[in-house]
Amino acid sequence: MFQVELVCSDPRCDAELTLWVDELGEVDAIACECGHGLVTVRIEGFEPVLAAV
Ligand SMILES: [Zn+2]
Repeated sequence: MFQVELVCSDPRCDAELTLWVDELGEVDAIACECGHGLVTVRIEGFEPVLAAV
């Protein structure tokens, strides 16, 4: 699980969003509402705390 912070690649657009994804590839499929792409500014990975039985 990754927490990904994104900003719009258009400097005139101040969109920011934080997503939770299982695979970083999911981020590639997402675009800003204004039609520009999104730039990843930060990625944090989280390991599951509880081991599945
Ligand atoms: Zn935008």
